[in-house]
This record gives sequence, C-alpha cells and structure tokens, in this order.
Amino acid sequence: MNKTILVTGASRGIGAACALLAARRGYTVCVNYRDNAAAAADVVRAIEVAGGQAFAVAADVADEAAVERLFAAIDARCGRLDALVNNAGILARQARVEQMDAARIQRILATNVTGSFLCAREAVRRMSTRHGGTGGAIVNVSSRAAVLGSANEYVDYAASKAAVDALTIGLAKEVAQEGIRVNGVRPGLIDTEMHASGGEPGRIARLQSSVPMARGGTAGEVAAAVLWLLSAEASYATGTFIDVSGGR
Ligand code: NAP
Repeated sequence: MNKTILVTGASRGIGAACALLAARRGYTVCVNYRDNAAAAADVVRAIEVAGGQAFAVAADVADEAAVERLFAAIDARCGRLDALVNNAGILARQARVEQMDAARIQRILATNVTGSFLCAREAVRRMSTRHGGTGGAIVNVSSRAAVLGSANEYVDYAASKAAVDALTIGLAKEVAQEGIRVNGVRPGLIDTEMHASGGEPGRIARLQSSVPMARGGTAGEVAAAVLWLLSAEASYATGTFIDVSGGR
C-alpha cells in the first residue's frame, strides 16, 4: 500500500508542486485547498495522468472542525498517514505595522500559525508511536521572511512564519522519540500567485537583483527540498531548516 501524504494549500503554487512531486515519489496525495476546487481538481488530474494517486479535500486549516473532517477523510480513504506538509499560508496587502488592524493580524495568524498547529496535532495523533502509529515526517513551509522581517510589506506575515519556525523546533523535540521528524523549509522569492495577493504581482522582478543568485525561485525548487526532508535520506535531520532562497 502506498504511503499517504497530506499537502495543505495544494491547489496551486508551492503546495501543488509538492503534491505533484510527492506523487512521483510514490505517495498517495491528499490535495487540500480552501476555495479553488477547480484548481485542486486540476492537480489531482495531473497526478492521475502521470500514473499517480490523489484526491482533493476542501478544508480551511484555520477552522478546527474542518481540519478534523479533513483528517477523518484521509482516515476513511487511506487508513494511514505518513507525511504532512503544512504549506497553506496567506499574506495581506503590503502595509506598515502602524496601519494594521487586529482583524488582519488575526486572519494571518489563524491560517499560518493556528492552521499549522492544528494539522500537526492531527498528524501526531496518527503517526506517533505513543498513539500506536508507525512514525512519519512533517515539513512546515515557513519563509525567509521569518528571519528578514518583511519591513514595509508584511511584518505580521513574517512574525507568523517565525512562529511556524518555533513550532518546528519545539514539536521536533517533543516527538523525536516517537518516530516523527519535523523540519522546515524557508523559501525566498518564489514565482507564485502569492505576491499578487500582497498587491504587487511584479514583486519578484523588483527585488530579484537583491538576491545573490539574481533571480526568483520556482515552486519545484522548493518542493525538491520538502520531499528530501520527508525522505529516508533525511533520517537524522529533525528540528532543522533548509533555506531555498538563492542566498537571500
Ligand atoms: P499561493 O500561490 O498563494 O497558494 C496558496 C495556497 O494555500 C492555495 O492552494 C490556497 O488554496 C491555500 N490556502 C490559503 N489559505 C488556506 C486555508 N486557510 N486553508 C487551506 N488552504 C489554504 O501561495 P504559495 O506562494 O504557493 O505559498 C505556499 C506557502 O509557501 C505559504 O505558506 C507561503 O507563506 C510560503 N512561502 C511562499 C513564498 C513565495 O515567494 N511564493 C515565499 C516564502 C514562503 P485556495 O486557492 O483553494 O484558496
């Protein structure tokens, strides 16, 4: 029986690239998404056309009941869970801290932080040898913003990713003797639709000269690091990070 992986926010961008690569590596893939059912169905179809197995499940990761339904759907369909990629993430329009209201900040934290915690919780309940599981691996998709701070753009988003990094370090230690490895990937400027949601679709073109490698990255380049951290080749890596940022 195939190993099963859940990739949150897999209807496009980095999540879709992780889903496609995971399927090529032999996982049955749960393609989670929030709104865009058609895009998620396209990802499932692309995996199936390539000979892989996948299914899409809608769930807002910030909604605890929806997360529980998402994992119950995986239980019913696959009866096992071997890997989780906490990828779903959002940012808001570029703004300075003095312009941010509580609703905006809470929206960012709810998806990026609470969502990652809830999915990690459900994964640990299934994977941990303490709960009768056979182990597994979790990769949290953070951001170089966690370290750089995103001044004048979205410090709230950067702070949410710093929280994801603390989750990675703490959870890794908590479950290290229960068969679960937890690591993080911090992408830099990656060519996806996320920059448009911040109000600047051309953001990579503006900033790429400041990247040591002088270009943006691709979602596939991030997915390669995620899948390595999930693989047996990374068997002694936990609580650590790969920056996929061209040196930024
Ligand atoms: P994207 O193109 O905007 O895609 C976001 C994905 O997340 C979509 O599939 C979306 O689903 C899903 N999503 C959003 N909110 C969700 C929620 N509450 N519940 C479930 N799914 C949700 O973003 P991306 O650039 O691929 O980013 C993926 C991850 O990489 C994020 O965590 C982001 O912070 C991180 N990252 C990106 C960059 C970059 O330069 N692109 C850099 C550093 C880190 P629907 O479309 O169905 O709503």
